[in-house]
Amino acid sequence: DVPVIAIDGPSASGKGTVAQRVAERLGFHYLDSGALYRLVALAALRAGVAWDDEAGLERLAQELKVRFDAGRVWLGDEEVTDAIRSEEVSRGASSVAQWPAVREALLDRQRAFRQPPGLVADGRDMGSVVFPDARVKIFLTASPEVRAQRRYKQLMEKGMSANIQTLLQDIRARDARDSQRSAAPLQKCADASLLDTSDLTIDQAVEAVLKQYRA
Ligand code: C5P
Repeated sequence: DVPVIAIDGPSASGKGTVAQRVAERLGFHYLDSGALYRLVALAALRAGVAWDDEAGLERLAQELKVRFDAGRVWLGDEEVTDAIRSEEVSRGASSVAQWPAVREALLDRQRAFRQPPGLVADGRDMGSVVFPDARVKIFLTASPEVRAQRRYKQLMEKGMSANIQTLLQDIRARDARDSQRSAAPLQKCADASLLDTSDLTIDQAVEAVLKQYRA
């Protein structure tokens, strides 16, 4: 059967970068499940569907016309790679993700990424819900301070302005929302191993994941 490496963890932990590099190293496919929740949020903003309209959001999730290619994302004919990373969409994604019907509607779409020779899946519930039979399950995290620093550096590199205290507050607020919600709360599942990257470089984190896979 097709092996899956499930990498879950909080936002701005670096799991996206680590997961992509691991996928490249192994020649595996890559699933950025957060992008799907972001796409639903963007589609909702465009269609004027409210954050508390579970049935409306479910329909958007079912009908979502998405395409991923070489690190870029399309919604219908429109490239939305940058649009789904805005603060407004980030907040929206974490709102739509609390609805069980939305999560359910995205399940098959996520599982369809499991193709030979293998898949690296990045998210919040990859190991617990979407791929419970994953070969390797990692809970990748870093302290809120380190995550705020990393996000700050990223924004600076893109020439965007940012305030480290505001970023830290946002990160703490999103952590609280993601871990306290009733549908698929963010938490390390019992059979996942904890990888704290606070004091690791990206390369070191990638090696740690590969080592687990090869063990
Ligand atoms: O990982 P990313 O920050 O792009 O995810 C955006 C939002 O989508 C998160 O705040 C989280 O609430 C939600 N999400 C989720 N389950 C996943 C991936 C993301 O609930 N597997």
